[in-house]
Amino acid sequence: MQDLLKTLGIQDLNMGATTGVSKGRLSTRGRPLISVSPIDGQPIARVTQATAEDYQQVMQKALQAFENWRMTPAPQRGQVVRDIGNRLREYKEPLGLLVTWEMGKIKAEGLGEVQEMIDMADFAVGLSRQLYGFTMPSERPRHRMYEQWHPLGPVGIITAFNFPLAVWSWNIMLSTICGNVSIWKPSSKTPLTAIAVQNVIAPVLDRHGLDGVINLVIGAGSDVGETLIRDPRVPLISATGSCRMGRHVAGAVAQRYGRALLELGGNNAIVICEDADLDLAVRAVLFGAVGTAGQRCTTTRRIIIDNQVKSRFVDALIKSYGQVTIGDPRAGGILMGPMVDAEAVDGMLAALETAQSQGAKLLYGGRRLDTMPGGCYVTPAIVAAKNHFPIVQQETFAPVLYIIGYDTMDEAIAYHNDVPQGLSSAIFTNDLRKMEVFLSQRGSDCGIANVNIGTSGAEIGGAFGGEKQTGGGREAGSDAWKAYMRRQTCTINWGGEMPLAQGIKFDV
Ligand code: NAD
Repeated sequence: MQDLLKTLGIQDLNMGATTGVSKGRLSTRGRPLISVSPIDGQPIARVTQATAEDYQQVMQKALQAFENWRMTPAPQRGQVVRDIGNRLREYKEPLGLLVTWEMGKIKAEGLGEVQEMIDMADFAVGLSRQLYGFTMPSERPRHRMYEQWHPLGPVGIITAFNFPLAVWSWNIMLSTICGNVSIWKPSSKTPLTAIAVQNVIAPVLDRHGLDGVINLVIGAGSDVGETLIRDPRVPLISATGSCRMGRHVAGAVAQRYGRALLELGGNNAIVICEDADLDLAVRAVLFGAVGTAGQRCTTTRRIIIDNQVKSRFVDALIKSYGQVTIGDPRAGGILMGPMVDAEAVDGMLAALETAQSQGAKLLYGGRRLDTMPGGCYVTPAIVAAKNHFPIVQQETFAPVLYIIGYDTMDEAIAYHNDVPQGLSSAIFTNDLRKMEVFLSQRGSDCGIANVNIGTSGAEIGGAFGGEKQTGGGREAGSDAWKAYMRRQTCTINWGGEMPLAQGIKFDV
């Protein structure tokens, strides 16, 4: 594993801020941070965090860089992102393995995360020639009206631990082709992954002379994070994390009339109808609920199932849960690695106790495992519950799946939507009418609605995000790029008259 760190330029002690280029590392002066692997509780390497003063130094560089970057034609910005994507292709294996080591997701998922970054880079390269604005017919003679999109400025990117690279890439690839500079504050649980990817892309930034365009600042949310969200020079904060964090960030950004793009927690459900292909549903639920040890924002947390097929489905699900291999996520054949840290394990066990005190019944799992000394392993849990239980209404960021029975389709949809969050959703049915009801205005109220596939594992081509307490933000595909630019409506008078809109006469 030491070779892996060397390949990625990670040392025993690493500086927690950079302005992107190889010589852009700051001598940071903040508190030390030790990155510990959830696989075995062993330290991987240390980081000297940035302070609020270090942040100011990075911001100065970012503001200078913005002056030139915004004037670089968008297709040329796309070429830089293309070079970044090519570096990621070269370093896919080591970056993916570091994600696994530092965060605990299985190897296939770690590699998948880097693939997602590569896909985002490709998408953004194409988009760099397609930042289209509309032309509208003016109501006034000899007038032309159109809209154009301009860069915003420095964009603050705050990311969660569970997708330590992918979420950054959703933001950075779009933000960069849009002509912005960015300051990334990653989760303190995954600082090395952030340093590693900056090291990987530094030669590209060197080659293009882009000091200050893609910046990193590692520090506590309460210190560097607070400074970033309150900085009036940052017109957009894109924040991914818990609803609690999002509420706080949204308030702070709104105070200074900034924009917040929020990607927050989910409480995702799958409705399983009596006519559904249950084998298909079991496979989707297994990946959705157990994949990434239940630590995806899109993790399946609730099954809302027709009472006629409930016990048949639950029996089949318990059988497949029994076959899930749990252990060192670096090893082949393992489907579930550890949770991110001991606190996450405690949180899961506490939630299960609370659930039972509220009337739920534990049907499977929910135990701490001593798979490896120092590791954070659990068995995933299946729990019979009611949708209105307070614990079911919350996002427990762990592999806990609640089973909720229903009798009518209206009841299923009411349960489905009766939670504060609104990220991802799915229905399993072969009935066209039920499918259309679920996708209709009175169906799922989530940002993502799927049919006969699970709630997790979104493709980058669609806009990703959710409603209600999930925050309303959209990232990645479709026209999500618009959040990273400012729209300007322009009207040009090329005639010799001065007609006013709405036919108003104002002549002297
Ligand atoms: P978290 O809220 O604890 O932390 C997220 C980030 O916010 C971290 O970088 C943290 O340092 C930062 N932060 C905390 N307080 C801050 C402050 N005052 N100012 C600035 N930054 C601050 O979340 P987590 O435990 O890392 O991640 C899990 C959560 O993220 C879950 O709720 C999950 O659903 C959500 N998530 C959502 C999406 C999505 O796209 N909707 C994607 C991934 C994760």
